[in-house]
Amino acid sequence: MRPEILFPLFTPVSTLKGVGPRVAPLVERLAGPIVRDVLFTPPTSLIRRTATTSDRAIDGQVQTFVVTIDAHLPPQRPGQPWRVRAWDEYGFVTLTWFKGFGSHLERAHPVGARRAVSGKVERFGSEIQVAHPDYLFGADRAGDIPPVEAVYPATAGLPSRTFRKFALEALERAAALPEWQDPAWMTREGFPAWREALALLHNPQAEIDLSPLSVTRRRLAYDELLAHQLALAQRKAAKRAHPAPRIMAGDLSDAAEKALPFRLTGAQIRALSEVRGDVASGERMGRLLQGDVGSGKTVVAMLAMADAAASGLQSALMAPTEILARQHYETLAPPLEAQGLAVILLTGRDKGPARASKLAKLADGSAAVVVGTHALFQDDVAFSALGLTIIDEQHRFGVNERKRLQAKGLHPDLGGAHLLAMSATPIPRTLELTMFGDLDVSRIDEKPPGRTPVATRAAPTPRIPEIIARLKAAAEGGAQAFWICPLVSESDKIDLRDAERRSASLREAIGPSVGLVHGQMNAADKDAVMADFVDGKVSVLVATTVVEVGVNVPNASIMVIEHADRFGLAQLHQLRGRVGRGSRESSCVLLYDPPLSEVAQQRLDILRRSDDGFEIAEKDLELRGGGDPLGLKQSGFPAYRLADPVAHRDLIAVAADDARLILARDPDLTSPRGLAVRTLQELFDWKSASPLNDAG
Ligand code: ADP
Ligand code: MG
Repeated sequence: MRPEILFPLFTPVSTLKGVGPRVAPLVERLAGPIVRDVLFTPPTSLIRRTATTSDRAIDGQVQTFVVTIDAHLPPQRPGQPWRVRAWDEYGFVTLTWFKGFGSHLERAHPVGARRAVSGKVERFGSEIQVAHPDYLFGADRAGDIPPVEAVYPATAGLPSRTFRKFALEALERAAALPEWQDPAWMTREGFPAWREALALLHNPQAEIDLSPLSVTRRRLAYDELLAHQLALAQRKAAKRAHPAPRIMAGDLSDAAEKALPFRLTGAQIRALSEVRGDVASGERMGRLLQGDVGSGKTVVAMLAMADAAASGLQSALMAPTEILARQHYETLAPPLEAQGLAVILLTGRDKGPARASKLAKLADGSAAVVVGTHALFQDDVAFSALGLTIIDEQHRFGVNERKRLQAKGLHPDLGGAHLLAMSATPIPRTLELTMFGDLDVSRIDEKPPGRTPVATRAAPTPRIPEIIARLKAAAEGGAQAFWICPLVSESDKIDLRDAERRSASLREAIGPSVGLVHGQMNAADKDAVMADFVDGKVSVLVATTVVEVGVNVPNASIMVIEHADRFGLAQLHQLRGRVGRGSRESSCVLLYDPPLSEVAQQRLDILRRSDDGFEIAEKDLELRGGGDPLGLKQSGFPAYRLADPVAHRDLIAVAADDARLILARDPDLTSPRGLAVRTLQELFDWKSASPLNDAG
């Protein structure tokens, strides 16, 4: 329940003075629907207003004068401004209005009145002008003009100064709250109290106060991160508390493992045992399996499915694309079928009686394992006993899509289905905590043996003919290559034309074995081309980024990426991971349009030097130092108001530990600190915020 002390902050923005029906939607768009949201909207810069006199006015600066009104000079012709001549003891200052003027100005500021005026100075020779003054008060109120003023992101119809008034009123409504932060930690960091930090947030005195690294901003960021980590930790605990069927490791998966043509890596063994620990516990697993492309996540999933089947439970693996689902099916089915399990593939292409017969096998339990696409969570898909859901490239699915599949596992006798999410998007460890804090994470941080690193270099587009010549020679020697034409422009049509043109020119140079696959092809055509590529009938596969995820073609050893400078590093790394899977020496060429900016150069260098996705992600983060590294916003990254996941990344891990500790000591939050922590949670309201990874 929300403590009373917060009520004034949890009222609509329309309760703020000056926020009427016209302004309210603008405030809502900028900040949010309630007063708290206005309070949590930080200024982005500041204006200094120096008090001065007309002889010392500086062009372009924002300055404050005390003047006496001398004359009103209304416009003589349309288009002319209303001018008010005023003077101080050193000369004249002219105030001008291009709109909103009228005789009310004359009444409000009659000749002879003394006024404090502030605004941006324009000098025309010896003439000093202030157009549309920011402040025009009686001289006795000169002290009300702030010498330093916070500037907020303005939107049309809502000037920064108006928003500032609302923010200051919101600040008035904020009471000092009981401290939820650990006193020793606060002292160490030099954090001010919450109310004090907010007062400084909205009344910055110098640029340093606006820096995310100031103690004020760090304190407020920490509050937000702590509230979020608490919510994640509680959600994780709540999920665990759901009963789920016990799955025991057994002979069946041992046999399947023995039949593999390779031995599991140490990292795979570790991940598998973490999964097994979870599913044997009787509580529902919610685990993320993070591993670089080619690190071997599928085998871990396959063995977990074998365990489930041996316990009489069905498993479903969902992949974001048809190609990928098919490939998983082709990998999983033989070893599982060798153990006598029925495995089926279900995609959007299954129609009519064929589909009906597959659905029947899922419903009566005769199929132990199903691999598929979005087709899996359709309403008419029912399971007899779904105990394990696995979601590959989990970020490619929406929360609701994941939930719909997960919901098929709810069973009155069995409890819920275990969840294993898999992701090859390398995310730095600290950010992982904010994105997946409600899941347990296993990392496969070791690649299967025998992989040679991919020789990576950057090349300007004028060298394409030379690259094509070498590609031709390589193709004649039996090598296979990907040529990526990314979707980069605004229009799919243009991109497609680029990809088509490229495949035509390659076909001309290399021959008929050049194939093209793109997102607008239908599934059957796409699969046919992919199959030809896997079989070696296609030597060079021109592709838009549809091949980005998962696809495994061990014989492919060359990767050419056009417009590499427009990709995120993580994505480039994933693309590069498509090659270097076999025994052939592999190479990756990153094509760019010269000239390359220094940052772009540095980014491509990182990729050239490192082959470790996690390291690449970490470096990329450092290099960008802010904003939206890795394109996280699209992948469901939390929308923090006060915390910056990059600038405050050192605080994330501390907040996660803090949250864990708080809940371990005081699970029901009844101690004095616990009660303060509840207030913090209510303040940020993460509990009701849309959950990111709420997989059930
Ligand atoms: P990803 O983690 O990208 O999903 P996959 O599971 O597709 O990786 O595995 C990539 C390739 O590595 C597959 O061909 C798979 O058979 C192979 N592989 C997996 N584990 C091992 C291992 N321990 N030793 C050798 N090869 C392996
Ligand atoms: Mg995979």
